[in-house]
Amino acid sequence: MKPRVNLVCTECGYVFPSDSGKNRCEKCGGILEYVWDEEYLKTVEFTGELKFWRYKPVLPPVKKPVSLGEGGTPLQEVQRLAEALGLKNVALKDETRNPTNSFKDRSAALIISDASGKGFGSLVCATNGNHGASIAAYSAKANIACHLIVPKALDIGKLAQMMVYNAEIVESGETIEESISRAITLEGEMGWYQATTELNPLSIEGLKTIAYEIVEQGGEPDWLFVAMGSGVTISSLWKGFKELETMGRIQKLPRLVGIQARGCSPIVSAFDSGDDTPKPMEHGETEATAIRVSRPIFGELALKALRESNGFAVTVSDEDMLAAGREIARLEGIFAEPASAATVASLNSLVKTGKIDRIDRMICLITSSGLKTDDILQSLTKRKRSPGLGSMLTTKEKILRHISGGETYGYEVWKAVGKGMTIGAVYQHIADLEEKGLISSSLRGKRRYYEITDRGKRTLSALDDLQVLL
Ligand SMILES: [Zn+2]
Repeated sequence: MKPRVNLVCTECGYVFPSDSGKNRCEKCGGILEYVWDEEYLKTVEFTGELKFWRYKPVLPPVKKPVSLGEGGTPLQEVQRLAEALGLKNVALKDETRNPTNSFKDRSAALIISDASGKGFGSLVCATNGNHGASIAAYSAKANIACHLIVPKALDIGKLAQMMVYNAEIVESGETIEESISRAITLEGEMGWYQATTELNPLSIEGLKTIAYEIVEQGGEPDWLFVAMGSGVTISSLWKGFKELETMGRIQKLPRLVGIQARGCSPIVSAFDSGDDTPKPMEHGETEATAIRVSRPIFGELALKALRESNGFAVTVSDEDMLAAGREIARLEGIFAEPASAATVASLNSLVKTGKIDRIDRMICLITSSGLKTDDILQSLTKRKRSPGLGSMLTTKEKILRHISGGETYGYEVWKAVGKGMTIGAVYQHIADLEEKGLISSSLRGKRRYYEITDRGKRTLSALDDLQVLL
């Protein structure tokens, strides 16, 4: 059967043809969503390996898929982490394993395939990070000129990706909302393809494939934990699960838990007060830039998904996110960005308060890698430098510091810092330091004594400065 799908306004229900290329409803300005014919969904078969394009029959048709090998990310069972939390059955859907290390590669693959198939040579995209990095990479692959509009505060790793994939980057405004309005203007003025998540209904279709994969990987969860910024991710996954239910591929829908940062939680506030629409925040603050969204455009859809699923919305502190990120890395070898780690951070309190049973099957969505974010990198480099790093330098530095504490002799130096190496090796380091003029020696009786020189003192103080910089 040929795919049967329409673009439908989520506000007023107006129906557009699926190939109309609309960003927003012409009647009311509402968000558009692809709605698949139920009879068609029941006939769908998936073929090929477990990768993104396996789900082509439930994606709006494109002429030729542009791919960097996205999707098919592992559903990792995490026993050590579960035990640490006192839980039985936890898995992480590890989206850091996508080509640009984030889940946004799924929507980028679909959006760029669409732009390329329609013959666009240029696109515009407002982004606060991961989506822009993905769009830049796929634009490079498809030879499309990529214009990214970004707010001022941006994770350095994501900016580096955008630059290396050769995107043109324009800084516009303090917030993502300001960048979006600039992208709308540019689309109109220049006739560029609109690749902004909030303005391109293909985003939802791309992201919903995460739900398909979770189910095919045998993970029908009781609870699904998803961090919320604009709300697009949680509503996309919910759409995927509901399609799977229509197809008869799952027996029950998961209950959703949506997590926001304590300092920026308009969707959680609306959930708690029973509102259908989140009130925009004046100035949302969190270190987790990926979910720092004060006016969540998909907020209504996210709230609907949370309520339909009989789920919860909760907040976590930035400190708890960072701590959870370290736990996930330390116990399971997965380096998640703070926004992703927020899912794990929320588990503790929900179990403690009895809202969730310890034996339930829980899946947390890890959307993106911690390597891209400033906050984690900064908090890690603030720690003491590991002695494993450049060990020759470190040993010499240790010896120099010991000698700077007052006149001493070789055997004493070896006792103080040389454990694990021969006394001969220590003498070699001492000889090197003396040759460089960092220490001087004098022979008294049978013993040679060492002391630090002015040059040695200056070197140590330079090393101290460097530590502060690091
Ligand atoms: Zn409408």
